[in-house]
Amino acid sequence: MPLDPARVVARLEELRALTGDENGAQRVAWTETWATARAWLAESLADLPLEVERDAAGNDWYTLRGDDGRTVLIGGHLDSVPNGGWLDGCLNVLAGAEVLRRIAEDGTPPVTVRLVDWADEEGARFGRSLFGSSAAAGSMRDQEELRRLVDRDGVPLPDAVGAFGVDLDRIGEAHAQLEGAVAYLELHIEQGPVLESLGLPLGTVLGTFGVERSRITWTGQAAHAGSTPMAERRDALAGAAKLALAIREIAESTGDGAVCTSGDVTCRPGIVTSVVETAEQLLDQRHLDAAKLASMHARAEELSRRFAGEERLDVAWERIWSIEPILFDDALIGLADEAIWEVSGTTHRLPSGPLHDAAEVSRAGVPTVMVFVQSLRGLSHTKLEDTKSEHLELSVAALDRLASKTLARVVGAG
Ligand SMILES: [Zn+2]
Repeated sequence: MPLDPARVVARLEELRALTGDENGAQRVAWTETWATARAWLAESLADLPLEVERDAAGNDWYTLRGDDGRTVLIGGHLDSVPNGGWLDGCLNVLAGAEVLRRIAEDGTPPVTVRLVDWADEEGARFGRSLFGSSAAAGSMRDQEELRRLVDRDGVPLPDAVGAFGVDLDRIGEAHAQLEGAVAYLELHIEQGPVLESLGLPLGTVLGTFGVERSRITWTGQAAHAGSTPMAERRDALAGAAKLALAIREIAESTGDGAVCTSGDVTCRPGIVTSVVETAEQLLDQRHLDAAKLASMHARAEELSRRFAGEERLDVAWERIWSIEPILFDDALIGLADEAIWEVSGTTHRLPSGPLHDAAEVSRAGVPTVMVFVQSLRGLSHTKLEDTKSEHLELSVAALDRLASKTLARVVGAG
């Protein structure tokens, strides 16, 4: 049977009806609704000659054995945030299932093809994203912290994952799943406005942004709002405000998709009758190029010293989290471009702002690429998340072509 992209759209609608409500998707990982979605997927693949396995980190694997032990992986995640969208994560799984079906019905593939439904990509319940993929990648190093996490109802993470047969002491065993993997392919909605603004259905993803997160503490002097003349003030908020505007210029002059966000400023004493004494500001900076990211960070720090001087403040910087940019595989990027060109007559390359399971797999040394399909209004993680059906169908066709090209390339490489 040939590939049927329209069936994927119908299946997505079926999944929405099964696991969503009037507020959106409710497939939060380690919940019954998530289990329902996973069982529904397994049932839909039961007629294919697949080996089905849940690994030590709770990832579900569907393996179509080929003539050769090398494996091409296609991945996604069925879990969603609470009140989430109908496409984030599950498009990749259901498109991958359709591609697997097409390959299986063509006969034994030249190399093994596996579909993986990663466990808890979103981290919605316990705040730890990329759970299953980081365990498989071997980059999960915070098991002790995980043991202490509890959800909003006080349920500890070890209990919640234990109900799904996952033991934190053994999650590293999932790493064995990546043995023999020669390529990892992931289709995802863009979750941003770039493709829509360019009028393009699909894009090849170059990699995921590196991230620098900082806490900047500005210190001035609390003083009475009525009795302190403007020229006498040491207003900590003035420093934070200048920096919040200056980061726009930093991002713009750096270019290539650079983004900087001042997501919060907490002021003390935080009352209407006092000049702000301390302002604690959070800054998130992202770029695909490690050197440019470093220079954006240095520039923000340098400007903050200048603003501190102008406003007679002290300023202190603290790094709270960072991750290197992760670049996808050049050869697979080329194949993704070809696949997208063949189904849509256009191509475009773009970086990913959000992290994805693909970043973990790539970090583990498996050649990786992602394809993005346009998101309407750039919205995601809300029930308003949407993509035109025709674009969803094109994305399934592109993933199928990419899988075929990847298999041909692996076989060609011997
Ligand atoms: Zn996702």
